[in-house]
Formats: sequence, C-alpha cells, structure tokens
Amino acid sequence: MAILGRAGWRVAGFWRPLGAVCCTSPRCYSVPSEHTTEKSVPYTKTLKQDDGLRGPTKALPSSADVVVIGGGSLGCQTLYHLCKMGLTNVVLLERDRLTAGTTWHTAGLLWQLRPSDTEVELLAHTRHVVSSELQAETGLDTGWIQNGGLFIASNKQRLDEYKRLMSLGKVYGIESYVLSPAETKELYPLMNVRDLYGTLYVPKDGTMDPAGTCATLSRAATARGATVVENCPVTGIQVNPDHMGVRRVRAVETAFGTIQTPCVVNCAGVWATKLGELAGVNVPLLAMHHAYVVTERIEGIQNMPNVRDHDASVYLRLQGDALSVGGYEQNPIFWDVVSDKFAFSLFDLDWDIFMQHIDGAINRVPALEKTGIKSTVCGPESFTADHKPLLGEAPEVRGFYLGCGFNSAGMMLGGGCGKELAHWIIHGRPEKDMYGYDIRRFHHSITNNSRWLRERSHESYAKNYSVVFPFDEPLAGRNMRKDPLYQVLQEQGCVFQERHGWERPGWFNTDTSVLDYDYYGAYEITKNKDYKYNELLGKEYTFDFPPHHGTASCLACRCSVAGFNMSYFGKFYLMGPDAKKAADWLFTADINKAPGSTVYSCMLNRRGGTESDLTVSRLQAGPTHLPLTPECNGDTYYLAVGGAVAQHNWSHIQTVLQDQGFDCTMADHSEDMGMISIQGPRSRELLQEIVDADLSNEAFPFSTHKIITAAGHKVRAMRLSFVGELGWELHIPKESCVPVYQAVMSAGAKYGVRNAGYRAIDSLSIEKGYRHWHADLRPDDTPLEAGLAFTCKMKTSIPFLGREALESQKAMGLHRRIVCFTIDERVPMFGLEAIYCNGVPVGHLRRAEFGYAIDKTIGYGYIRNWPLYWKRLSGESSVEKGEQRYSPCLCSSLVLVGSGCTAVYSVIQ
Ligand SMILES: Cc1cc2nc3c(=O)[nH]c(=O)nc-3n(C[C@H](O)[C@H](O)[C@H](O)COP(=O)(O)OP(=O)(O)OC[C@H]3O[C@@H](n4cnc5c(N)ncnc54)[C@H](O)[C@@H]3O)c2cc1C
Repeated sequence: MAILGRAGWRVAGFWRPLGAVCCTSPRCYSVPSEHTTEKSVPYTKTLKQDDGLRGPTKALPSSADVVVIGGGSLGCQTLYHLCKMGLTNVVLLERDRLTAGTTWHTAGLLWQLRPSDTEVELLAHTRHVVSSELQAETGLDTGWIQNGGLFIASNKQRLDEYKRLMSLGKVYGIESYVLSPAETKELYPLMNVRDLYGTLYVPKDGTMDPAGTCATLSRAATARGATVVENCPVTGIQVNPDHMGVRRVRAVETAFGTIQTPCVVNCAGVWATKLGELAGVNVPLLAMHHAYVVTERIEGIQNMPNVRDHDASVYLRLQGDALSVGGYEQNPIFWDVVSDKFAFSLFDLDWDIFMQHIDGAINRVPALEKTGIKSTVCGPESFTADHKPLLGEAPEVRGFYLGCGFNSAGMMLGGGCGKELAHWIIHGRPEKDMYGYDIRRFHHSITNNSRWLRERSHESYAKNYSVVFPFDEPLAGRNMRKDPLYQVLQEQGCVFQERHGWERPGWFNTDTSVLDYDYYGAYEITKNKDYKYNELLGKEYTFDFPPHHGTASCLACRCSVAGFNMSYFGKFYLMGPDAKKAADWLFTADINKAPGSTVYSCMLNRRGGTESDLTVSRLQAGPTHLPLTPECNGDTYYLAVGGAVAQHNWSHIQTVLQDQGFDCTMADHSEDMGMISIQGPRSRELLQEIVDADLSNEAFPFSTHKIITAAGHKVRAMRLSFVGELGWELHIPKESCVPVYQAVMSAGAKYGVRNAGYRAIDSLSIEKGYRHWHADLRPDDTPLEAGLAFTCKMKTSIPFLGREALESQKAMGLHRRIVCFTIDERVPMFGLEAIYCNGVPVGHLRRAEFGYAIDKTIGYGYIRNWPLYWKRLSGESSVEKGEQRYSPCLCSSLVLVGSGCTAVYSVIQ
C-alpha cells in the first residue's frame, strides 16, 4: 500500500494491485480503453450498470424545444431548470450513461464564499437545490452532506482576503467565522495550527454526491415531462442560414434518429469543443488531468469540515472516516487528444506530479504521513483562459448555447449556472449578471488561437488557489492585440493591462516589457529572469493601496492636461435602410439629433437591465473615406464602446437586429483606427495649436463631433470626457496615430502634459460619478436604479428595448438603487465591502477607488429594500473593510462643478 509520507513513498510500493481492488465491487466503474486503467474509486454507486446496453434507452422524439447534450452535472441541472421554468418538450442526450464523463468521479466540494457577488448567489442556489429543493420535489435524498468548510490562511494577506469574503457573505446571509489558530484546533483537533495565521470557517458548506444529485435531477425533470435518453451519442448538428443569412440551429443528429430543434445546449464537458465543431462554433477550453487520492481510515477525522489550504494549493475532503487529498499543480498534464471512448474512465495518476501536494497535506494534517492510500482518482476536466465557465449563446450560431468549461467547479456551480442558462434560453438573457461567464467576454479573434488558450489555461490552473488581489494581470497569452501606439508608449514605460486580447495602458513606469510566457518554469521551460513587469505586478499584490496608484497622472489631468491612449475601444458603424429604426430601438437615449451630435446612451435587455453604455455619433452624409467616414447615404451612426466589452456589444446589437428583422449592416473598424483622449483644463489650448478647427465652446460645443485636421492628419474629434474635464477624443486612422500623438505631446510639453492610463481613468471617473459597465452598471441594474434615468428617452413616445420594464419599474417605485459613499480617511477599498444600515447588511460596494482631487475614498453600491432603508441610511450607515467599519458620507451622486484642481464637489442628495 502507498502511504502519503515521503519516507513511505520511497519505501513502499505505489499502490496495491488494481485487480484486487476492482473485484471488490459488484459494479464496473471504468471501461478500459487506450487511455485508461481501472482504479479503485471511492464510490460504491454510480449510475453506470455493466448491463451491456447498446442503443438508446428511449425512443427519440422527432422534435423538441431544446436538446441538452451531455448528462453530467451541467446537463442534468440545465434540464431540470428548463422544466422548472415551464419548458417540458425538452430532451437530454447522453452518449453513455448519466455522469459518465467527469461528473461521476468529482470530489463534490461546495464552498459558498467566492470573491464575486454573482458567484456567491450561484453557489447558494446549487446548495439550495441539492440540500432541500430536490428532496422536497422528489422525496429523494441527493446525498448532500453538510460538514462545513474551512479555509486556511498562512499569512496576513490570505486572511485579509478571507475577511473580504466574510464581509460579502454577510450581505447574502452566509454564516462564516474567522477563527484563531487555537479555535481552529478546537474545531479540527487533527490539524497542525502552528503555522496558521487564522482560518475562515463556513459551517454550512458541504459535499455533494454526483450520482445522487444527477439521478434526482433527472427524476425531477422527467416527472415534469422531459425525456432523458442515454447511450445516444450526438453525431451531427444541422445549422441552416435563415432568410437573412443568419446561421441557426435546426436539428440534432444521432445514429438512432434526428431531432428537429431550434436550440441546443452544449453540456459535453471536455468533449464540448468537438461538439462545437459539429456546428462551426469555437469552444475555447482545454482538457487537463485533475486528481485526488483517497486515504485509508483516519482515526478522529469523522465529521470534520472540508479544508482548503490555498497557500499549500491542496484540499482535504472528508470522505466518511477518510480524506481525499487533491490540489492544483504548477505543471498539470494536458489531455491533447480527447478520446470519445472514455466513459467512467480514469487516468493513471502521475505521482511525480502529484507529489508536490504531499508536503502541504501532511503539514496540515500530520496524521496523513502514516496513512495508507486506498485509491487514486485522476480524471479529465476542462479549463478555460480565465478560469471561468463558458455559458450563453455562441456568437457564431443562433440557438447554440454553451454550458461547459467548469474549471473544477462544475458541481458547486452547476445549480446556479443551470438556472441561469435556462433563463437565458427561455427569456433571451440570464437573470443575473453572467457577463463573467458569457462566451462573448472573449473577442472572436482569440478564441481559436491555440497559444493564447494553452498559456492562459495553464496559468489559470496553476493560480487557482492564489489570492485574488484587486490588481492583477495575466502573464500568459499576452501581446495578442497591439494598437498603433503600443510601441511608442512602451518606450515611455507604459505598464500594460490585458483586456479582450488587447494591451491597454495601465500606468507608467520604466522598463516594463511583457515577455513571452514562461509557464512559471514548468515543463522545463526556462523561467524569465529579472522580469521587471512581473516584479511590478508583485508589488501590486496587496489589499492596501498599491504603490503605483495614479496620483500624479490624476492630478495632472485635473490641474492641467493628460493624454490617454484609448485605441482599444470598439469602433463600429451602424448603417443601412433601417439604421434609424434600429438606433431608436437599441439606444435608450434619443439619437434624433442633428448630424454632428454625439450622445451618451445605454442599451438594455427586455427586463430593462443595462447591457452596455456607449457613445452614439450621428454622421453627416458625405463621400466615403474609410475608416473615418463609411458609405453614408442615409442615417449612419458611429458607435464607440469600451474595448474590453467590444464583442459583447457587437453581439448584442447583431442579436437585436436579427430578432427585429432590421435591414442594417454593422462594420467593425476597431483595428483600423486608434483613439487618443486629451483631457484637462488646458486641453483646449494644447489642441488648438495642432488642429485646424476652432475649439471654442461656440464652434465646438460639448457632445458634438467633426472631422478636422490634427498635425496634418484627418481625424474625427469628439468633445467628450470620461474623466469629468474639458477634453476631446481624437479618433485617428491607424497610420496617423503616431504622428498625431507626437504632435500632442510636443505641443503639450509646456503645459506639463502627461501620459495617463486606465488606473487614472478608474479614479478620475469615479470622482466624476461616471459608471463603469460591469462594475457599478450591469445587466442586472436598470438605468433608473443606476442613477442614469437621464439617458432614457422616457419623455418621448419612441419605443425602445427595455422601455416597458422601465415604465413599470417607475410606476411601482424603485426597490433598490445606487448610492455614493465617501470616506474621509484614506481607506483602501476595491469593491465587495458590505454596507450596513443600522447594523443590518443592506448591500455592498460594487466599485471603490481613491479620489485624488477630492482626497477621499469613494465607493458606489446598491441598497436593497430602498423604501425601507433610504431614510435611515443617512447617519446610520457604515461600510466594512476587514473587521473595521467606517462611517461614510452619503449622497446619490458626486458632481464635479467646474474643473481643475480647485473643482468643487457638490453632493446630490
Ligand atoms: C478529480 C476531480 C475533482 C473535482 N472536484 C470537484 C469539486 O470538489 N467540486 C466541484 O464543484 N467540481 C469538482 N470537479 C469538477 C466537476 O466534477 C466538473 O466540473 C463537472 O463534473 C463537469 O460536469 P459537466 O456536466 O460539465 O461535464 P461531464 O460530467 O463531463 O459531462 C459531459 C457529458 O457529455 C457527454 N457527451 C460528450 N460528448 C457527447 C456527445 N457527442 N453526445 C452525447 N453526449 C456526449 C459525456 O459522456 C458526459 O457524460 C472535479 C473534477 C475532477 C476531475
């Protein structure tokens, strides 16, 4: 028998003979194939019966409203939630038997706390489904065990992270406690606590049983009318163009028949990429080996909570009177050629790789050193570029939904994601803010880039247990998209951030190149030496103020002038015979202004949630001169959207145009043009020296745009500001970007013009009260709740997408709304901090920053039960950072009156 201790590892054999173990069970858990060897597994039950069944377990219907492909955690959860939401003509097709892919051998851990409000809610829903809802519905026990969860902190930063989680958890009613080492020892007597800083204990965390969960979900769904067909591999997906040329799902093919359907959900786990190929859809995930070992009995371990020792990168899961020990390695094994013949199979465990977890596990529970290993479980799991799942409708094919890429969290996220997917399919959008999981968060140009996918998936696997700091950047998959000013800015010490594949300016330092990815030295790749960029990031790993916060550039912008390279922005033209109709329907703001106007607007979903904010510029008719002026016969609009969300905006607009049948075209000129924004009280003086146009208020009012000449180059100038200053954006054909930038900088030398990056924008914009989409403005916030009613043309009679929802919200009164908090002390806050009213948690900060001109900490958050709390908030509210609470000053918004260093902030109540 193998034992976990190193001495034992050397002396003893690795494991006992496999045959002896396999014969102990009446069921066969693995099908030998070229990739797999049978292992003893810790379960005495899976749904697999060695009954030699071939062919589908049920006759296939000829049509269905939705076909879910894959009978693992995600397929079963999605099917169940579709039925719960009223769709009953739904079919699940599973190649083998339910759970046969990854689900059958999962560790099944469910932790409720994560550094994201959406994820906390998703996890809570899964827990609710497996711990009570399914039992109430079917009378069956899913096998849920509530043994609690314990997160280990070996240093202060880790404990700071846990306190942040605890604070967020309070907002959602999740009970948790920070324990001292002595209290931890009392709770878990077998634990070594000598090197502990503290722990976070969540008593209602627990462990899911995969077979029990999937069997019960399937039972509940079929009772509501769904059809579950096993032994039925999907072999083809028919996709046809409709009358507008839009590719749509039409049918699902199997060897046993074809099902006509407009909607397919790809829940095929590591096989999801292959399934995508059948429909011409990119599914950017990679399969890797992920493993745990199961120990022999440990005296005294019964009823202990599951343990996650992040700093050692290991987890210890209670399994009856034994433990499962697993972890995340620096050098995981990729499964490059994914086999279709892998049902209920496992890989041989590579002990050389797994051994890196052993010291950490034994250090935490020393009894492990002398404990035998009963079995090993090493299976395939899918990993993605940012360690988040891939959900939602694929941009390539309408009706093709993804529910895959779960990064070792597909059991615990299954219920929440299944519910959101079902909502997405039935109502067109999910209920919660699922942007972080939406396939459209990635730009289409990188989802099929194998270098990007491999590097990023490796890094996210290796960093799975790293502290989630507010400021972090990937080292992998960099330099995919560079704008025309990249080189010039790099020479000036630009520290780049990665967004949507682009390298965008974060802040400025010296000597900051991003080097080729070195896999952190894994796979015998030479590690980058003297890597300045990595060292700079290391200094940002803090929950205090990072050293490179943008003081100087923020104040330069407020007091004189700063230049921001925002070239990564999405730049689209909307044109065609129905362009005006489409613009009226898409945009909340009234865009029926004279050509030459620029309007800030939102785009909504049907429920009034904000899918985007952007600027819409109505163009003059005139000759075509791309990329600055497209063919402009009728109504034509130029849309500028944040570069990190370009794909999301593009897909949203396309989907709406298709759903409404508008005869329009969209043209993407993001890569042909750069954009520099010159902002600050002296921006007019500076720009006036290099442009041929009159920049006075009369000649160039706010919210207008024109084609002008700057330093001899044609550019589209827009008088706008994202930082609350006098300023212009110059949208510039790419070959003119460098000369125009150089002219700006040399003319600006006498005003002390500075390069500034997105760190500065984050701070400057919050000072001005501008919203950031996907932070303080999301698909689950309406513009009314977000304080953006001014962007909505409610006083006109023009219908727009989401209008009805806003009208009924207005009529009923707001139940939640955004509030601005300022704190006089310099408190580093980053979002997620709980907001209390009279001691009761009523919300959390979505976004927080330090405002350098105002010299205060500023945060925005939504308050629930607004009618109940709003009167009490003033004077009785506090914001929690760590274990300390601060009394903020409250206002509905901050408004910067005037500009410059002496700007006055007025508080709008
Ligand atoms: C060792 C290990 C430990 C883990 N521990 C945890 C944990 O503690 N907590 C947690 O939350 N998660 C954990 N996970 C991750 C979790 O198990 C997975 O994320 C989850 O099971 C994935 O479920 P799924 O439905 O996406 O995929 P799968 O379970 O793989 O299901 C996909 C299904 O699709 C079927 N299929 C494929 N192709 C076709 C086709 N052409 N036609 C029809 N059917 C097809 C397959 O047969 C398979 O049954 C762990 C994973 C591993 C490997």
